[in-house]
Amino acid sequence: MVDAVTLSKSFGSNEVLKSISLQVQRGEVMCVIGPSGSGKSTFLRCINHLERIDAGRLYVDGQLVGYRQKGDKLYELKPSEAARQRRDIGMVFQHFNLFPHMTALENVVEAPIRVKGVSKSDALARGRELLARVGLAQQSGHYPSQLSGGQQQRVAIARALAMDPKLMLFDEPTSALDPELVGEVLDVMRGLAQTGMTMVVVTHEMGFAREVGDSVVFMDGGVVVEAGDPKEVLTNPQHQRTKAFLSKVL
Ligand code: ATP
Ligand code: MG
Repeated sequence: MVDAVTLSKSFGSNEVLKSISLQVQRGEVMCVIGPSGSGKSTFLRCINHLERIDAGRLYVDGQLVGYRQKGDKLYELKPSEAARQRRDIGMVFQHFNLFPHMTALENVVEAPIRVKGVSKSDALARGRELLARVGLAQQSGHYPSQLSGGQQQRVAIARALAMDPKLMLFDEPTSALDPELVGEVLDVMRGLAQTGMTMVVVTHEMGFAREVGDSVVFMDGGVVVEAGDPKEVLTNPQHQRTKAFLSKVL
């Protein structure tokens, strides 16, 4: 589903991703771990072309992301074309970024109606179903300010799912939450994984990575230091840098 091939990305002279190659199979959950500044968010942002890449190739579902290939040359897609590609990729951020002046349900139905042209009645029915799925059937009329952080994040997940994405990206979805609210969000993500959704999850939740992840990737300094089965990598890391990182977070 995701195929990153020798992906490189710099900000000025700061080379943030150094020839990253990674694959996520359809239906798999890949967890990305690593210290602050290692390039995790940048990697996620490249997957839906929120960042332009400098070298390499990125494919989602067999389609080149952000570019069109003619011969051996690449041409960047127009913003409208990139936006169209991005519709199929859901993204959930650390800060939930809900529209504050809209209810939970309005947040969820906004994009399907406005971007996809789904009828209002269909969007509302589906939106209620999605809110129920994330455990918020009773809160559909609440505004973000009336919801806890964990509830807001679950609305954000429902909102992303409302676009019927084929891939979901999560960037530290529980890092901004009070500890007692982390579990309810991870439970929703675990449920989503069980439905067969392909997911790339940047997280510091090692328990989640071990139990839900099909693979785990440890990034440091813009390179993939170690990747593989979470049970192997997290319990028996091969590289010194992985060991040092895990000893700090576990
Ligand atoms: P964290 O765990 O703190 O979220 P991260 O692994 O997600 O870190 P990134 O946010 O990908 O790291 O950042 C990697 C590097 O790229 C950092 O040195 C950061 O300062 C730099 N960087 C990220 N975005 C930009 C930008 N828009 N312009 C310039 N530099 C950037
Ligand atoms: Mg980050």
